[in-house]
Amino acid sequence: METTRARPCAFLDRDGVLIEDTGYPHKPAEAVWTPGVMAALRRLNQAGLAVCLVTNQAGVARGLYDEETVARFHIWMAAEARAAGARIDGFAYCPFHEAAQQERYRRESARRKPRAGMIEDWLALFPLRREGSFLIGDRETDMAAAAAAGIPGHLFPGGDLDVFVAGILDQRAAA
Ligand SMILES: [Mg+2]
Repeated sequence: METTRARPCAFLDRDGVLIEDTGYPHKPAEAVWTPGVMAALRRLNQAGLAVCLVTNQAGVARGLYDEETVARFHIWMAAEARAAGARIDGFAYCPFHEAAQQERYRRESARRKPRAGMIEDWLALFPLRREGSFLIGDRETDMAAAAAAGIPGHLFPGGDLDVFVAGILDQRAAA
């Protein structure tokens, strides 16, 4: 592992942070980006942070859409970001739920927030360091996952994401 080159990471929830949580969003045509999202991503990129998504997708477990749809959605998000001069380094999702209609998705998963599995997997997979990393989410389950991973969690109340991210980076610089 390239610990000497390890970067900190901004772990981002997806629905309610990068795009509006309109209730299991999964179609590009219906997705609504959060105000300031591309500027926020560019700001994180320029600050030298990796940017990795960590999103629960119980819609898969509920049979509302399949994993291929999630993958297509994420490819679309990555392309939109790239077109705006921003970079999302990784997309992680958890399709499992204890009460899933579909048996193959019906289980407890260490990757489902409030557990820290998706964060821990990113930390293990990339040369990332925990120190200086943080998470932005819009729910208490996001904050719990951050706490379980031993990183700060920032609860996004809505509004302009770039203003919110700028505030976090200022806080970090002052710490
Ligand atoms: Mg959310």
